[in-house]
Amino acid sequence: MAGVILGLVGASGIIVDHAIFRKRRRRKFLERLVAKEYRVCPQCLYALCGSSDEGKCPECGLPYSGASLVEQWKQILRIPAARKGLEV
Ligand SMILES: [Zn+2]
Repeated sequence: MAGVILGLVGASGIIVDHAIFRKRRRRKFLERLVAKEYRVCPQCLYALCGSSDEGKCPECGLPYSGASLVEQWKQILRIPAARKGLEV
């Protein structure tokens, strides 16, 4: 019985750790995305920092513009449109 309880406590700790890890990973990813001004291809994650304001991703060919990248990332990450700045 004690082993079962210890197992359940351990398993719940793993689930909590995993949730915290996911939240930290998401925050770090968002920080990097904001630092790159959302200029990352949402399809293949190619960094478009040195590329022109609009065109096609050199890696996968996805057409993009500065505004479309922001909108696509906000939809992917489910960031409310009203939130501005560092959206973590
Ligand atoms: Zn791409």
